[in-house]
Amino acid sequence: MREILFVKPIFKTMIWGGNRLRTDFNYDIPGDNVGECWAISAHPSGDCEIKAGTYKGETLSRLWTNHPELFGNRKEKAFPLLIKIIDAKKDLSIQVHPDDAYADKYQPGSFGKTECWYVLDCDENTEIVIGHNAKDKKELVRMIDEKRWKELIRVKPIKKGDFFQITPGTVHAIKAGTMLLETQQSSDITFRLYDYDRLDNGKPRQLHIKESIDVISCPHRDVVIDPKITGWEGGTITELINDKHYTVQKIDIDGTMAMEQDKDFMNVSVIDGEGEIDNIKIAKGDHFIIPFGYGQFSLTGKMSLIRSFIDNRA
Ligand code: ZN
Repeated sequence: MREILFVKPIFKTMIWGGNRLRTDFNYDIPGDNVGECWAISAHPSGDCEIKAGTYKGETLSRLWTNHPELFGNRKEKAFPLLIKIIDAKKDLSIQVHPDDAYADKYQPGSFGKTECWYVLDCDENTEIVIGHNAKDKKELVRMIDEKRWKELIRVKPIKKGDFFQITPGTVHAIKAGTMLLETQQSSDITFRLYDYDRLDNGKPRQLHIKESIDVISCPHRDVVIDPKITGWEGGTITELINDKHYTVQKIDIDGTMAMEQDKDFMNVSVIDGEGEIDNIKIAKGDHFIIPFGYGQFSLTGKMSLIRSFIDNRA
């Protein structure tokens, strides 16, 4: 039987980051401004290592290239997904991502970025930026020129357990006081539209106004999230989104649940509690990939997980 691939997270210091990846997740993080944990990633900007077993010390990108059989021999040149935990102590810049076609023109070989957020925790009265109020591109350009940010940007309140799908072309920003798990296409292309006129080491961070205007969808349309909950012996599975780029589910275990790995690969993150997968101990903060052909497995304990895979029919 194939082995479960446990991966070692990579941490990124950000001007907006905090220390909750240490205080909430017990990770050994470098400093008190860590904004991102790249939990499952084969991206060149953060390529995770396998923690133990046959492939110990291998990077995920090398496994993808040298052992495609572990991932169902998929056609993509690189591992297509990236899982992050984000700790926003301060507001992130207001940004937008390109789709696959624009990304490939902008930086040949790159994926676009569709991403989604599961809110792990947030302060009271926390908000999130999703969408804008311009009715067409002309109005968008005028509002940007005139720096009418407050009027342009759409903000909505959030709470723990909320879920958002951010398609390419959607203006968005995570705001202060939010911890979330992000599932995204493996891409690092971000166009920064507005950064609250903040300074980083005495200088404003680079903006990408032209590229932002190129890719922003007008008018904005929210993606409606309609979670589907199914009960099983030992817990529930909540399907949060089923998109062509990824399917994301929350799994709540209370007892023992029998499952099957029948996808090309499956990413799993433990976001709360502890338990076992096939007699291997797992706890909050662990991330692993169940490879192709693994077959039946069982989850035991009292814990919550987020899993993602690519549904070839979506
Ligand atoms: Zn983003």
